[in-house]
Amino acid sequence: MTDVRIATMDGTGKVLESAAVQAFRDELRGPLIGPEDANYDETRSVWNGMIDRRPALIARCGGVADVIAAVRFARDNQLLVSVRGGGHNTPGIAVCERGLMIDLAGLRSVHVDHARRTARAEGGATWSEFDRETQAFGLATTGGAISHTGIGGLTLGGGLGWLAGKYGLACDNLVSVDLVTADGSMVTATATDNPELFWGLRGGGGNFGIVTSFEYRLHPVGPLLAGPVFYPFAKAREALALYRDFATSIPDEVNTVAALMNSPDGDPLAAIVLCYNGDLAIGEKVLRPLRNFGPPVADQVAPTPYRTVQTFFDEAFIRGRRYYFKSNFTSSISDEAVATLVEQFATAPSPLSMVYFQQLGNAANRVHATETAFSHRDALCEWGCDAVWLDPTDDAANIRWARQVAEAMRPFTSGSDYVNHIGLEAEEGADRIKAAFGANYDRLVALKNRYDPTNLFRHNQNIKPTV
Ligand SMILES: Cc1cc2nc3c(=O)[nH]c(=O)nc-3n(C[C@H](O)[C@H](O)[C@H](O)COP(=O)(O)OP(=O)(O)OC[C@H]3O[C@@H](n4cnc5c(N)ncnc54)[C@H](O)[C@@H]3O)c2cc1C
Repeated sequence: MTDVRIATMDGTGKVLESAAVQAFRDELRGPLIGPEDANYDETRSVWNGMIDRRPALIARCGGVADVIAAVRFARDNQLLVSVRGGGHNTPGIAVCERGLMIDLAGLRSVHVDHARRTARAEGGATWSEFDRETQAFGLATTGGAISHTGIGGLTLGGGLGWLAGKYGLACDNLVSVDLVTADGSMVTATATDNPELFWGLRGGGGNFGIVTSFEYRLHPVGPLLAGPVFYPFAKAREALALYRDFATSIPDEVNTVAALMNSPDGDPLAAIVLCYNGDLAIGEKVLRPLRNFGPPVADQVAPTPYRTVQTFFDEAFIRGRRYYFKSNFTSSISDEAVATLVEQFATAPSPLSMVYFQQLGNAANRVHATETAFSHRDALCEWGCDAVWLDPTDDAANIRWARQVAEAMRPFTSGSDYVNHIGLEAEEGADRIKAAFGANYDRLVALKNRYDPTNLFRHNQNIKPTV
């Protein structure tokens, strides 16, 4: 091991002497990885193939003690730090350039207490790992729509998912959180212990520390009546208008996603993906209006195990492809918004791209905007544009398209992004990040002042301390 040149929080850099690096390595149970190691490229890569940042060091933590050691080392040396949970965030904020990446890939255990109907999961677990353990007991909680997404980033930003109509967002199901704070100490936050921190962790993102474990409330979840209904693109406007009317007046058991996408043969389609979490016979009646419309090109709604529902979109979002997303919350979907989205989708340069509406869900809507840090409780859904392509020479065209769609949709949206789909201030601008936290921003700044006054956890949708 030689000396290591590494980025610091003030944007300059410093040299860590080899002895200091070795002492840090000796403290860790997991490996400390640098550019000279064979697995460096694999370890620094994340889901989005566009992200190509090179940390000076990667601490692949083997347990909670490693997380504490890494945070203390970073704090003592004033290092630029990023935190990797599932590594699924599109702007790739889990990876920093030339700093220390604290990688939670070694913390993935999930323990279910089936008697209490709770699960305690480590901060680097993915939803597929979580769902596998909880479904063994016929239980589940709201998780994201892609199975390889990390529970960490998704839950801390809010967490939209198929079960949110009945059980609220992922963050609404938290019971307790274990967190390593910026000074390297361990804190547990619940509704009664450190309640203000518990409030901030439910929507405030990775601003307050590194979560080593999340405890979630679980619910009995059996097979769901779920699947996509595809309509010809010529009927896209009517299908999306019908979707809007349906989504605004559904029982708690239902959640929905509507998308414009291309079939594997390249034919544009409108898809409405339905999920009924309740009595299947009642679900048949509730979902019938959308399945009768058209007629559909294909209707794949059927009784489906929950873990299969959680993989519906996996094939469309394969690791290593190039991705650039834009999205925004919206409390209603006007005919003009539908027409604009249909027109814009038709201009996509890549056949892999899609645009969508993802519904928040009735129970998520019933929580007051200030009850948790996730403030967008009046949103009917999130509108999104997912540019997906393969060839790096097509980067500019696809990024331009996503930005163009966002601009065209701006009049129809709330002006607030979902924290989990935005990136660093250099890309997003400070105002957009502030707007993403909505009315709760000032309260989150107060929490940041208390738990991370030097802004160690800045490589995220950063809430800046004012102390
Ligand atoms: C294709 C796709 C589909 C998606 N679908 C949904 C969806 O259905 N619902 C939804 O709500 N979101 C969805 N998202 C957004 C998703 O919530 C974010 O991408 C989220 O950041 C992923 O979490 P992660 O742990 O994998 O992220 P990472 O890339 O690992 O981390 C992102 C940031 O989260 C923070 N973080 C992660 N883990 C921890 C931890 N343990 N402690 C402290 N901070 C941590 C850090 O700041 C980190 O930099 C989707 C994203 C994509 C790309």
